[in-house]
Amino acid sequence: MENGITPVRVRFAPSPTGHMHLGSARTALYDYLLAKKTGGKFILRIEDTDQKRYVEGAEQELIEGLRWLGVDFDEGPDIGGPFGPYRQSERKGIYLKYAEQLVESGHAYYCFCTPERLTKVREEQQRRKEAPHYDGNCRNIRIEEARQRIEKGEKHVIRFKTPKEGTTTVKDLLRGEITVENRTLDDYILVKSDGWALYHLAAMVDDHLMKITHVIRGSEWLPSLPLHSLIMQAFNWPEPVWVHLSVFLKPSGKGKMSKREKDELLKDGYSIFIKDLKDLGYLPEAVVNWVSLMGWSFDDHTEFFTLSDLIDKFSLEQLNPSPAAINFSKLDHFNGLHIRNLTDEELARRITPFFTAKGIKTDAEKMKKIAPILKERIATLDESVEMAGFFFKDKVLPAVEELVPKGLTPAQAREILLESHIILSAVGNFSHKEAEEPMRAYVESSGFSAGQVFGVLRVAITGQKVSPPLFESMEIIGKEVVLQRLQQSIRLIDQE
Ligand code: GLU
Repeated sequence: MENGITPVRVRFAPSPTGHMHLGSARTALYDYLLAKKTGGKFILRIEDTDQKRYVEGAEQELIEGLRWLGVDFDEGPDIGGPFGPYRQSERKGIYLKYAEQLVESGHAYYCFCTPERLTKVREEQQRRKEAPHYDGNCRNIRIEEARQRIEKGEKHVIRFKTPKEGTTTVKDLLRGEITVENRTLDDYILVKSDGWALYHLAAMVDDHLMKITHVIRGSEWLPSLPLHSLIMQAFNWPEPVWVHLSVFLKPSGKGKMSKREKDELLKDGYSIFIKDLKDLGYLPEAVVNWVSLMGWSFDDHTEFFTLSDLIDKFSLEQLNPSPAAINFSKLDHFNGLHIRNLTDEELARRITPFFTAKGIKTDAEKMKKIAPILKERIATLDESVEMAGFFFKDKVLPAVEELVPKGLTPAQAREILLESHIILSAVGNFSHKEAEEPMRAYVESSGFSAGQVFGVLRVAITGQKVSPPLFESMEIIGKEVVLQRLQQSIRLIDQE
């Protein structure tokens, strides 16, 4: 490459076991940024060998989540690529072949221990207050004998023959060297009795075959890193650069979020799941900006980044291994900034589905006029419906108690409505400027405050106490409808 940076090959390797969350979004984003920055490739690999934990639809949700975020992958299960298949469930035979290669080279062995025996071993270890581990019973069975037993149909797994002496040193890019005593490591299972490889083997084989240069993943995988490094060494494969990202903590900064806390969060209009954030009215641009800063920073003050800014500025050197507390008010803040960064047309396009979802039929021309007056006033896209739904309704039904605010009598509210009707009827060109001028003059002479007069008008015209700016709204609604609504409110007061 011209800039001297070697193009990377990085992979996001989720297990389709549930909803896509912030942690996944961040890993995928960093992968994507690094790939784009270096002219490399970003790969999506679905790690679905654990059939018990498989959740229908989860893969689709992941793909949709990535596309929504704008974090596009270059190779993956739905688009293919030169190193496929990209779903581990379609690679069973590959893993088995490599597991047998390890058995052949003396780095793995067949184990015939029954679940009953393993339970007993575990119980004895518990009694002796030892950490549970495999006791090595089958470690030294000769390979010919093992093959005969397999031929006779004896159930077996393949275990890694972890060295029992010495130490293993691995290097994580953010944490430096980590050394463990090999005797603390277990003889982990690589292939289960049903012939399916476990993650530890499958991921290493795939990372090698897919020519992955950097493994970026959550720090929950740090404890497995020595094993992964030993597997790579056993195959005589070069190791990728290992990058374990910081942990996310709940907003209080204390610990990880529980299931119950996640449900509670949704009631407040927040979520750690990507699909929810979309439905709650967050922009992908804001989510990207927000998560990019949970574990990375550019400097100590720049915080507004678009995806292309991030491609430009991202670097692995500025990743930070310290835990990051999830801060939802920051998300609101970024959402506001990115909403204001949209063009009016684009904002109109983005808010439209939120109206449709509430059964409100919109019209594109009107929406384009509404977008600019909403821009400064909404923190999330869904708020636009509550704020501006009335624009698309044929009728509004103001509540009389809201038409007559505190401090005014019904007769005074009626007077305001009637005077406004007279004044506004006389306005020729019904632009907000032309309508506002005589109304301000009326406020001056009426003895009422601006808050009182415009409050009554707002309820009469929009049917609600909070709305976008009154005169801009009136301009969009149009003179005729405004006058009708004023008359309707006068009648409502009279009927009381
Ligand atoms: N399937 C693993 C997970 O979902 C992937 C970990 C990795 O990136 O190596 O956590």
